[in-house]
Amino acid sequence: MNLKRIELAGFKSFADRTELEFGSGITAVVGPNGSGKSNISDGIRWVLGEQSAKSLRGGNMQDVIFAGSDTRKPVNFGEVSLTFDNTDRTLPLEFSEVTVTRRVHRSGESEYLINKQACRLKDITELFMDTGIGREAYSIIGQGRIEEILSTRSEDRRGIFEEASGIVKYKSRKKEAQKKLEDTENNLLRIHDLVSELE
Ligand code: ATP
Repeated sequence: MNLKRIELAGFKSFADRTELEFGSGITAVVGPNGSGKSNISDGIRWVLGEQSAKSLRGGNMQDVIFAGSDTRKPVNFGEVSLTFDNTDRTLPLEFSEVTVTRRVHRSGESEYLINKQACRLKDITELFMDTGIGREAYSIIGQGRIEEILSTRSEDRRGIFEEASGIVKYKSRKKEAQKKLEDTENNLLRIHDLVSELE
């Protein structure tokens, strides 16, 4: 599965709608300092669900919206879309092309879309789980990530192997199920208390 295209509009330094096509093989993005190279990889992580404004080099999430320049007014929303070739059905959807979009408005309102259909952040996270593409996965290796791979802490290295072997999805479902079980046990306790009060 390949990333075919990224479209940015109103995101960081990309005031106008900008489209980058990725062919097969290696694509290198080159440009002078401050020209927006890292903003492209920030955009990729952002669509995949990055929730930490700090890791996107901002103070809050609205900082990703184009803030204006000497010649341009600020815009009201920022949007990034990633289009993947899904002919090999790596993503469990019956589409040969899958486009995921994230949009944020100055009001703070956020939207997520899969093939132009509104969805939840959870749907995007689950879609990419165990594919190696998710926000925390190994397909995006930032500087800190290299240290993590080389880290002597076995838990750090283990996370990367867990994603590659496809068990993150099950671990996440187990965690959800355990949480539900805990909530149910708490509810039962409360019911028992009420029943004994009534008796
Ligand atoms: P370097 O080679 O130095 O790492 P780079 O090409 O990776 O640089 P980026 O860090 O991607 O550059 O881009 C930085 C530029 O993006 C800065 O000029 C900054 O002002 C601009 N920028 C970041 N956020 C916004 C925003 N919300 N609105 C307008 N411009 C922004």
